[in-house]
Amino acid sequence: MFGHGRKNFTWNGTLKELEGSCPERGRPAMTAPLSSSSGLEVLLSTLQNAGDVESTLNILNVLDELLSAGTDRRIQYMISKGGSEALLSALVNTGRSFSPNYTLLLPLLHLLAKVGHRDRRIGMKAEEAGAVLLTLNLLRKNVQHAKRAAAFLWVIQVFCSSVSTANLLGENQGLDVIYRLIPHYATKNQHTIKVAIDAFAALLCTKANVHWVVSKGYISGLLRLYEDWHSNGAQDDAIPIRHSLLRCLHKVTNSTAGRQALVLHGGIRLLYESTQTCLLSKGLESLVEPSVQLMRKCLPTTPLPLTTDQSAYNFPLPGRVHTVPDMDTEEDLRSEESDDEEAEDNPKPDYDDDLETDLNKLRVRPDPDRPKELLPQYNRVCPELSHDFQELDLSSEPEESSSASSSSSDDEAVFGPPRRDRRKSSASWDWSPSSSGSHSETEPEGHTAAASNLEACDFHSHSSILSTSPSFRTMVREARGEAPPGQRGEEVGDEEDAEESHHCTMIDTLLDRHGVCIPHHEPRLYRAAAAQTKSIPGFSILAFPDFWGHLPPPGHEPMAPRKPNIQRKKVFEDVQRFLNPDDIIDQVVFDLEDSSLQCPSDSLRFYSKFECGNLRKAVQVRRYEYDIILNADANCNQHTQWFYFEVSNMVPGTSYRFNVINCEKSNSQFNYGMQPVLYSVREALEGRPHWVRTGAEICYYRNNYCPAQCRRRTTFYTLTFTITFKHNEDVCYLAYHYPYTYSALKANLKLLQRSVDPTKVFFQQQVLCSTLAGNSCPVVTITACPASRSWRDMHQLRNRPCIVLTCRVHPGESNASWVMKGTLEFLCSSDPVAQSLREAFIFKIIPMLNPDGVINGTNRCDLNGEDLNRQWSKPDPVLSPTIYHTKGFLYYLNSIGRTPLVFCDYHGHSRKKNVFLYGCSLKETLWQSGSAVNTMGLKEDPGYRTIPKTLDSLAPAFSFNSCNYLVEKSRSSTARVVVWREMGVLRSYTMESTHNGCDQGIYKGLQTGTRELQEMGVKFCHSLLSLTKDLKAFYSPRTINHIDMDHKSHNCFEDDEPPCVEQIEYSTDCPLLKGTDLDSDVNRNMARADEEEDGDEGQRGGTLCRGSTGQSQQSMKSYLFPHLMRQSSSEKRSMCNGVSANGQIMS
Ligand SMILES: [Zn+2]
Repeated sequence: MFGHGRKNFTWNGTLKELEGSCPERGRPAMTAPLSSSSGLEVLLSTLQNAGDVESTLNILNVLDELLSAGTDRRIQYMISKGGSEALLSALVNTGRSFSPNYTLLLPLLHLLAKVGHRDRRIGMKAEEAGAVLLTLNLLRKNVQHAKRAAAFLWVIQVFCSSVSTANLLGENQGLDVIYRLIPHYATKNQHTIKVAIDAFAALLCTKANVHWVVSKGYISGLLRLYEDWHSNGAQDDAIPIRHSLLRCLHKVTNSTAGRQALVLHGGIRLLYESTQTCLLSKGLESLVEPSVQLMRKCLPTTPLPLTTDQSAYNFPLPGRVHTVPDMDTEEDLRSEESDDEEAEDNPKPDYDDDLETDLNKLRVRPDPDRPKELLPQYNRVCPELSHDFQELDLSSEPEESSSASSSSSDDEAVFGPPRRDRRKSSASWDWSPSSSGSHSETEPEGHTAAASNLEACDFHSHSSILSTSPSFRTMVREARGEAPPGQRGEEVGDEEDAEESHHCTMIDTLLDRHGVCIPHHEPRLYRAAAAQTKSIPGFSILAFPDFWGHLPPPGHEPMAPRKPNIQRKKVFEDVQRFLNPDDIIDQVVFDLEDSSLQCPSDSLRFYSKFECGNLRKAVQVRRYEYDIILNADANCNQHTQWFYFEVSNMVPGTSYRFNVINCEKSNSQFNYGMQPVLYSVREALEGRPHWVRTGAEICYYRNNYCPAQCRRRTTFYTLTFTITFKHNEDVCYLAYHYPYTYSALKANLKLLQRSVDPTKVFFQQQVLCSTLAGNSCPVVTITACPASRSWRDMHQLRNRPCIVLTCRVHPGESNASWVMKGTLEFLCSSDPVAQSLREAFIFKIIPMLNPDGVINGTNRCDLNGEDLNRQWSKPDPVLSPTIYHTKGFLYYLNSIGRTPLVFCDYHGHSRKKNVFLYGCSLKETLWQSGSAVNTMGLKEDPGYRTIPKTLDSLAPAFSFNSCNYLVEKSRSSTARVVVWREMGVLRSYTMESTHNGCDQGIYKGLQTGTRELQEMGVKFCHSLLSLTKDLKAFYSPRTINHIDMDHKSHNCFEDDEPPCVEQIEYSTDCPLLKGTDLDSDVNRNMARADEEEDGDEGQRGGTLCRGSTGQSQQSMKSYLFPHLMRQSSSEKRSMCNGVSANGQIMS
């Protein structure tokens, strides 16, 4: 049925006979598989067996024409039909002869290169056919023959897709043979030279071959070649060759020895200098990025300039001998440890594996982690249930009722060790700023023993700014001279020391002159709260912004546009440090552990020994550039990301570069428009007390630092930004995000308590427990007072559903605290919605689950070096008291039949935009995981979607599309999952607020400020109103009808950002160097064959097709690839015109 004449093929059979052989086409009408083999198979078998040169050429030619015109699918089809084997066998047959027929061999090799390029098993097939070493030998014989050599080199390159084949070639001196084919700059045969370099690079896919190349000293040779081609190459002519050389260098530097060799032989300088030239010419631009990546990869790793990676803050844990963990035995879990409840780090491609599919673990409630007898103690945290509301009868006397509302001592720990005896009730406190007595009552707190060292609001660190004003200077002198800090006062009540101090007079004067009215903030109250805060180092200074207060700046703050090639620019500066170490100042200007440090008079001054502060070390590297090293979380050696420090002694109008060099997160919103925040004391004194987003040239990228002790496999990232300070002799503060201290919370709660009308609002602040460091963990109850003391009203009060809100388990997520501030202030407000909510619910709020972490400036952990949001399954009563007691309290609510209607834990997210919720759904988890469990019979109340849906329409920053409701194994010990599973709370959420801003809604393109964060806290409250109509449903076990649910839950585990324009990581394989266009190279070689080489060999059987019309080509194609014929008409058209799709002229 298949005949071929001497000049051309003809198809004598019918198309029908071929149809059945094509597996991919599903035309049911053509049922009968009529022939056992397709036309293609016949062609291939003829190819393998034909001894006749001309018919073999015919076949090769037809195959080549057909394959080069179509898409990869054709080649894949051919491979599936044994195309590679047939070509290899033809190669072996032809190549083995004493004098191979190159007329035949060349088109064969070209076709093999094209097909093999797409056959993943080509290497193994070639080995089986015995074609590998044969090809290498033929190459050896033809090194003088550029065109033939190129053809062999392609095939070798293609064979190297298999490691074992590459090793086989390496063992047989393939590397040496090919290396010798790469000459210094030459204008002739550049095509073949490039192929040789590409083949050499292909061989470097194995460790053994890389090792060989390094040990033979070829790296130096490759560098010299690169240098030569760079310096001699005319503008553009040698770009492909330079690219290929860079690819070789990338491959050889995949080993440590390779990187060392590159550095040793001056590779960094060569690359740096050649890149600088490339930048000057647009045509050479494409060489820059691969060179930069190569430099980043090879720059030697440098230990952080620290004596130890261990945090400078160590806290002796109860029941443990305090030792520094042995880091030799410490396992590096960092890469597995998921960052947030929200999987910020390590976007997991295999996230499905993480979804819980065990129905029992999803449905069955585990046994409580403690005996029932331990629960009744928590009735103290439900004061509203036992309160008699006598003050309602006395409502004509607000003074009295005020004290009633706050009667339960708000500083006394309910659980945990009793604290030192504290004096009287706080009822007599009068914080009213207008009160003349307030100053004398509040100031002396700074001198109590409780805060023995706290010379609160000591302006010591601000003396420079103060000294600029003569009047300020006088005040400072007075304060210093007459009130030596921290030496007066004994153990006395905070409010009872009525001694005036000049120091405080100075503060008062400053406040009176420059203070602005900040809602819910009172500096003196803040100072009083801070005096009682216990920190590991014993902070004695307040950071000015926390004391003075912050107002959101007027206007919006758009995300910062990313400068093009910013990372490249920064990397060049980093490379210069390596190349010219003498230009680097390298002067330590701040060391948390060395306060005696002297620094040059013209350098910036740093400071961070205050609440939430985090700065371990600052090193001046250039005149206006500083490296910043952050302190690891207390009692551990990692989790650096959060920063907050003071800087002064700046020159205004000069831009300073700051590099935070030991960040640990693998990506950051700093690459997507986020800026750090800055607070200027001078601006504040001029009436603008704002934290503002600031900083230019912001970039976050992987650097070459390693831990100081080098025992931990850690990747560090640099956050770099430049700041131009506005004022002379200013004191500024820089932070990762708007700070929110523990003292701020304490002061805020006090103010809220004062602000409410106690006849309307039941507001009670209690202490849930003491933290490890002895700070109190507040729990707040907010609800409406009953209308009267009648049984009915009291009954209604005591049956209101509970809503439990928690926050700030992760200290670095200060944005969560601002959202919580919004929630608290709203719930205490006179807003009618707030009133409705108070009448409908009892709010139980634990606004700071990790006070110790917040105070000591940690990013992630508590003082025991653990992520508290991974302790919920079995919290330790001693080491994780806040979690232990919060969970105990929830158990208690359960035990009295008052399971919360809503639980929400407020968090911050550093890698995503917007605000969103994570919830828990059994069905969605099973669906998403592809579990085989039949969910049809499972009942699930879809009410968990009500709040997110409501928020989507209410809150501008909220994004419903970012929410999901999946239960992950790795999150099984988080608040959200434990409260859902163990407490049976249907609406159990994590609320994630971005550190950056929004990419949707009215805030699109803007960074969020504290105003927007607080607004989010308000909107969350609003959304709770949507539940009030559900209340009946909640109390009767009526099954709610299924509301529509889309099964396509969003995959929250993916970074929501597109890959950064510039690589954050330096990859082992530079993506820009991947994917050589082998096809076009091969084709060019064919085309050029006639020009450059002996024309007699290169006829390529072109005559074969000469007689063919477009029509016959068409029918041939339909015969060979019938199932692929319904391709684009443009392809057909081009075929008819005798031009293949890739522009090649046929015949
Ligand atoms: Zn978090």
